[in-house]
Amino acid sequence: MGYLTGFMEYNRKDQDVKDPVERIKNWEEYVIRFDDQEIKEQSSRCMDCGTPFCHTGAEWEGAYVGCPVNNFIPEWNELVSEENWEEALRNLEETNNFPEFTGRVCPAPCEGSCTLAINDDPVTIKSIENEIIERGFDNNWVEAKVPERRTDKRVAVVGSGPAGLAAADQLNEMGHHVTVFERDDRPGGLLMYGIPNMKLDKDTVDRRIKVMKASGIEFVCNTEVGVDITREEMKRDFDSVIMCTGAQDPRDTPIENRDSKGIHFAMDYLTAATKALETDPKNTPITAEGKNVIVIGGGDTGADCVATALRQKAKRVVQFGKHPASPDERTDDNPWPEFPMTFKLDYGYKEGLETQGEDPRKYEVLTQRFEKNESGQVTALHTMNVEKVYENGEVITNEVPGTEQKWNADLVLIAIGFLGPEQDVLEHFGLETDERGRIWTVDGTKDYRTSEEGVYAAGDARRGQSLVVWAIREGREVAEQVHAYLMDKETKQIV
Ligand SMILES: Cc1cc2nc3c(=O)[nH]c(=O)nc-3n(C[C@H](O)[C@H](O)[C@H](O)COP(=O)(O)OP(=O)(O)OC[C@H]3O[C@@H](n4cnc5c(N)ncnc54)[C@H](O)[C@@H]3O)c2cc1C
Ligand code: SF4
Repeated sequence: MGYLTGFMEYNRKDQDVKDPVERIKNWEEYVIRFDDQEIKEQSSRCMDCGTPFCHTGAEWEGAYVGCPVNNFIPEWNELVSEENWEEALRNLEETNNFPEFTGRVCPAPCEGSCTLAINDDPVTIKSIENEIIERGFDNNWVEAKVPERRTDKRVAVVGSGPAGLAAADQLNEMGHHVTVFERDDRPGGLLMYGIPNMKLDKDTVDRRIKVMKASGIEFVCNTEVGVDITREEMKRDFDSVIMCTGAQDPRDTPIENRDSKGIHFAMDYLTAATKALETDPKNTPITAEGKNVIVIGGGDTGADCVATALRQKAKRVVQFGKHPASPDERTDDNPWPEFPMTFKLDYGYKEGLETQGEDPRKYEVLTQRFEKNESGQVTALHTMNVEKVYENGEVITNEVPGTEQKWNADLVLIAIGFLGPEQDVLEHFGLETDERGRIWTVDGTKDYRTSEEGVYAAGDARRGQSLVVWAIREGREVAEQVHAYLMDKETKQIV
């Protein structure tokens, strides 16, 4: 350990962030990297405790705790506190293909299960992870991983989100020929078109794709598998196929006047906003500029819509959620080492608070109907408050009489989650799905085989909408299985 008593000498300090009023004038990342002294102090807060939970990624009474990719957190904290950065990078690369993505966007379940968090603030694990990889790129230590020898096996990965990228990276390193198919114009999945630039700059995604291409992985963009390339062509050209197509089929709210102009799914809005940044931010078909914007849905996708609308100079942004605000402290049924379900002022909400004078979030609100004018444009929303009650052990959401409210709206963004994966490509491959429309895989959390021999699935398409870190874990695990499959048999007629 760098300092044996670092956890007693230093308080937790998060990375500084740019001033919310200033940062909404541009689309740059809002977090500022630690300086040398800060990172030394923060990493030395790690106690290197005897039984760390931070790295477990294991199931604990029905919930997962700790880091899903099992990063060797105490080890690299020690290396960082000793300023042994290159060694720390090599250690981190053992478990995480893309620390620059998780270091920016992971909600850090590791920190919730840090032993220090029992009675103090946890170690700033995520920020340290990000600093390790950034110093790796700064010093050109992140190199292409070209295998010394190649097998004659060819693998197709469908979808270039974090699951597909992790699977491709692993299988390429094992010596197989890997081609990643992506229907969008740029690889990255939701890392590219989904998570906004201020959380994850797109140069960061491109930087990693460049390394992967130099490692020998082929990327074929603007190609929708099942439409532009058929199952039969895949069968002819590849020994195995991994479906990493995500779970981006949006959930709708089929209420009165849903067909009004100015009502969009969150993903259509966010994707258009990101694409516009390649030319001119104003060059988007769906802009919030000068509008009363209402985001329906209290989750993280909604939060990204709030931050995007503020940057497009919305008149006012409001976000509706069905649930009550989270408590300030852990409740009895959410103990350490579980992820703390406590109140957080996410970046977009802080920006809303500072620029609009109010937190954009409105809790326990249910949209009843939309109102439109004679040209079909949405003009307002009607809502009622709701409350949760427990009846016979079940949670029921009741409307509260007398709480009807009308909200002016020129742009409505629907961010109430996702139904699951889009079905067309799954039907094209004849894959079985489960009761929630996800790709069925053989029972057992670590079995990624689908109902078709030689076809595997990983990421959100298999587990439902989740997190980048889980997609990376699934990508790594599916690669192990596909490798075993390829090395095990004569794999010519599989799909
Ligand atoms: C707005 C938003 C913000 C988020 N923010 C965070 C965050 O801050 N932190 C976090 O950890 N997680 C976040 N998530 C969740 C996270 O992005 C996903 O869990 C993760 O990206 C899933 O990875 P994946 O590889 O399984 O799928 P995806 O990233 O969804 O990628 C699937 C890819 O497959 C492609 N595809 C689909 N069908 C075909 C086909 N037939 N042919 C070719 N290509 C195809 C799609 O175009 C897409 O590029 C966010 C999600 C959203 C929607
Ligand atoms: S990947 Fe996420 S959970 Fe794992 S160490 Fe990084 S921030 Fe923590």
